[in-house]
Amino acid sequence: MAFEGLTERLQNAISKLKRKGKISESDVKEVMREIRLALLEADVNFKVVKDFVKEVKNRAVGAEVLESLTPAQQIVKIVNEELIKVMGESAVSLNKSKKIPTVIMMVGLQGAGKTTTAGKLAYKLKKEENARPLMIAADVYRPAAVDQLKTVGKSIDVPVFELGTDVDPVEIVRQGMKLAEEQKNDYVIIDTAGRLQIDEKLMNELARIKELTHPDEILLTVDSMTGQNAVEVAQGFNDTLDVTGVVLTKLDGDTRGGAALSIRAVTGKPIKFIGQGEKMTALDVFYPDRMASRILGMGDMLTLIEKAQQDFDQKKAEELADKMRENTFDFNDFIEQMEQVQNMGPIEDIMKMIPGMANNPALKNVKVDPKDIEHTKAIVYSMTPDEREDPDMLNPSRRRRIAAGSGRPIQEVNRMIKQFKQMRDMMQKMTNGNFGGMENMFGG
Ligand code: GDP
Repeated sequence: MAFEGLTERLQNAISKLKRKGKISESDVKEVMREIRLALLEADVNFKVVKDFVKEVKNRAVGAEVLESLTPAQQIVKIVNEELIKVMGESAVSLNKSKKIPTVIMMVGLQGAGKTTTAGKLAYKLKKEENARPLMIAADVYRPAAVDQLKTVGKSIDVPVFELGTDVDPVEIVRQGMKLAEEQKNDYVIIDTAGRLQIDEKLMNELARIKELTHPDEILLTVDSMTGQNAVEVAQGFNDTLDVTGVVLTKLDGDTRGGAALSIRAVTGKPIKFIGQGEKMTALDVFYPDRMASRILGMGDMLTLIEKAQQDFDQKKAEELADKMRENTFDFNDFIEQMEQVQNMGPIEDIMKMIPGMANNPALKNVKVDPKDIEHTKAIVYSMTPDEREDPDMLNPSRRRRIAAGSGRPIQEVNRMIKQFKQMRDMMQKMTNGNFGGMENMFGG
């Protein structure tokens, strides 16, 4: 889980203050010392940490904080605001050209996620703007990069221009651009070569592609798992190419936070997107405020809601809500809903986006085993259509038949049916406006 250590340490530092009624300047110093260590340990750039701590400290020792009735909350607020500032204040959108095509050049080290992100971006543009992008395969060095881009293109139904691996990448791009102009593609996304480290030959090649295409956007793809190193790499690329934005990938992994918090401050270039998974849908606009909440363990409700809207079929969701209200929610709906949630990603990650849940000790070791979901499905599939629609008809002999049919123990079948009924009752109450117990979830 991303930022886990950082979140925990920041929360610990602040919770010490919460226990005190009134705080002194030395309490602030103490908490700032802990915040400083937490950031350094998360691999945040040294100078960024220094400036950050100085800024928070200056604001926190002000009279209005120390004398307020809720000093700890005031400090959380300041830390939150400063985190947002370090990451760039607000979301920055993709540069677009006035005349087509808008040219986007993907650059970055090998393995950072360029090819994957090129595909994700093409998919996003296609879905959100009905765009007709063309991708150009200009990475002729990494074995199989061209094939990988072709596979990605096929999966999202976006054309890929390629000339194999024996042609000069600049020539490939030149021909690809020509084709895009002829076909009136509105976006061109160029997947360029990476190396394990920055080298001059690569930089020259990228500079030549830049010169040829005058890209509207040069997106540097950076692996967030590589921390400080990511920042050095970013500086290297930026020095030669003057990039226009950064994509931070693999934020679904257990990155410590260093890259997310340092890149903007060190390079001056905005993080525009974040990659949060291997699927083509796993590319999100970067919102500094949401990221700050996530780092502070305050959850990321907005992202969660957007994710739900994006991944759920709206019409189906409304039908489902009606069914819940009318208490006609049955096992068919149950399976459908389970599949939709499964599409959103690992359940434990989704739960952690809910405020107050991120550091909930009860969740620490939660792993929802995909096998459990498959078992539940197997049980439902062993029911007759009548049984699925009317769970109340499931008497003991029917349950035994279902257990045998699904290959699951009878106890598991019983437990699943019981849970289903409890869930159905709870949902009916909730959709009728009775949120009994839910408010505790947001109390922190
Ligand atoms: P390239 O060499 O820069 O083109 O990198 P690739 O696009 O081939 O990505 C390298 C690996 O990282 C692949 O296995 C991708 O599936 C994976 N990857 C890329 N972005 C993400 C991400 O946001 N999250 C996760 N978990 N994996 C990613």
